[in-house]
Amino acid sequence: MKKRLEKLRSFLESRQLDGIIISKPENRRYFSGFTGSAGILLVTHSEAKLLTDFRYTEQAAGEAALYEIILYGAQGIYAEVNSYAHDFKLHKIAFESDYVTYAGYSSMIQALPEIELVPVELDVLRSIKDKVELSYIKQAVEIADAAFTHILSFIKPGISEQAVALELEYKMKSLGAENIAFDTIVASGKRGAMPHGQPTEKLIETGDLVTMDFGAVYKGYHSDITRTVSVGKANAKQRKIYEIVLAAQLAGVRAVRAGLVGREIDAVARKLIKDAGFGEYFGHGLGHAVGLFIHEEPRLSPSNSSVKLEKNMVVTVEPGIYLPDWGGIRIEDTVVVCDAGCEVLTASSKQLIEL
Ligand code: ZN
Ligand code: ZN
Repeated sequence: MKKRLEKLRSFLESRQLDGIIISKPENRRYFSGFTGSAGILLVTHSEAKLLTDFRYTEQAAGEAALYEIILYGAQGIYAEVNSYAHDFKLHKIAFESDYVTYAGYSSMIQALPEIELVPVELDVLRSIKDKVELSYIKQAVEIADAAFTHILSFIKPGISEQAVALELEYKMKSLGAENIAFDTIVASGKRGAMPHGQPTEKLIETGDLVTMDFGAVYKGYHSDITRTVSVGKANAKQRKIYEIVLAAQLAGVRAVRAGLVGREIDAVARKLIKDAGFGEYFGHGLGHAVGLFIHEEPRLSPSNSSVKLEKNMVVTVEPGIYLPDWGGIRIEDTVVVCDAGCEVLTASSKQLIEL
């Protein structure tokens, strides 16, 4: 935590800022350890304060050891900031422009009339993961892997998509996940053509491909896995498209390494799918970074031509092919970027499983 605070202070230094107000929950947690749902951090070159309300002061004191915990009064949180700004002669204070709402910004302006408020985005400071973060992500991946192994014996013709989703979620939570990483996706048969198909009451039938995209949260950190399985024996077309997606996924994984921008890695997998004649049916990016948020920067997508991957970033590799009125196939792993290549965390088999 000390290192993270140092990182934040050098960020302030580089932007010539006197301080910063941090309100985004993920950043508040990352820079202080505080996991409560209300409050802000006020960090300057010499001070680190956590302002919160009566519900959280005790928790904050236990979690955010490097911070002075302040219970703010009825006049409001920014009025409190204003009095510190006055005491410590702060003139330029940053706020998170990608999180603070217009209403929040308006009350800041009102309460801090003499302060120059500078918009910044902090997420980029979280993109390279440290040892502790990597261990939490690995644990989140292990939980998702175990849930996948479990679900293979649960999926049968006649079971609904919703029941499959619930079972995955129940299993992950019973294995220690504090939450699910996002709304679980289960799409079977023709519904698989929707990349983000929410589970419905539809019953799974013999001959369906079932795409499941899910993840666990462990100590705030997310995992993200997709597998597509066949219920009964896959037909020739299902098998053929599965092999194309798998080849693209493996090529994408092989392409991940420090020094490349997201577009270059995306292009490797995309070319394979395009050359096989399905380019127009792979309509999303190849992957995204993952951490305290499920979708973080940098993206592995055609639109990212500037942000290079660096060692210990964690990203997903998830190509897919979606054919209207037929169905879809996606395969997704979570990987850690290394200097030469990457470490694949997801252990679940990627060969076509026929249940
Ligand atoms: Zn996913
Ligand atoms: Zn994903």
